[in-house]
Amino acid sequence: TNRLLTVTGAWELWSVCLCAFYIYGIYQTAKARSYLQYVKRKVRAPPTPPYKHVCQVGDPVLRGQAAAVDPGAVRGPEVQRVIGTLVEVMRKLDCVGLSAPQIGVPLRILAVEYPEKMLEESSPASIEARGLVAVPLRVFVNPELRVLDGRTALFQEACESISGFSASVPRYVTVEVSGLNEKAERVSWRASGWPARILQHEMDHLNGVLYIDRMDSKTFINICWQMHNE
Ligand SMILES: [Zn+2]
Repeated sequence: TNRLLTVTGAWELWSVCLCAFYIYGIYQTAKARSYLQYVKRKVRAPPTPPYKHVCQVGDPVLRGQAAAVDPGAVRGPEVQRVIGTLVEVMRKLDCVGLSAPQIGVPLRILAVEYPEKMLEESSPASIEARGLVAVPLRVFVNPELRVLDGRTALFQEACESISGFSASVPRYVTVEVSGLNEKAERVSWRASGWPARILQHEMDHLNGVLYIDRMDSKTFINICWQMHNE
């Protein structure tokens, strides 16, 4: 009996151990899973600038004064990588202008491109009113903007950094931008209508200014507001 009890006791003890191991196993699995996540985060580090996405309003990089680029560094690999990513992201998002701070790089670089196919999608009335015109890719490093016509035009504009919204913003009709291009050559460009608007919008980004600072706030809309009622 004594022996049997001992055996039973041993079995019970063993069962308790098994059960404990089982619970311990679940605990270990959970721990292992979170550890795997931890390792994954370690292996796949969060992205670093230049980002392949656009920073959203709230990100301090959009509110700072971007720094001038050393002209001697424009053709160097680091600045070229920023320019390459800027153009890549701009085209990926189908937007017509983008600035370096928007991809997390606080440098005075902007790109403008208005593809012909986008123009073809616009109505003649819209082309006429907004002064839409196709613009081949233009990159400006350390751009300076000069207003050539003090008159302003009021149109609805949007920003990839304030995703999903739009508002009416007054912009000068004609401006001239000068600076360096992606090959570090001195260039200047006189722009009117929509390209002038894009330039002013992107120039603002280099100074930490967003269109919401200049908009007529009563015209601020969620682009999908109608969808919410459907
Ligand atoms: Zn913008």
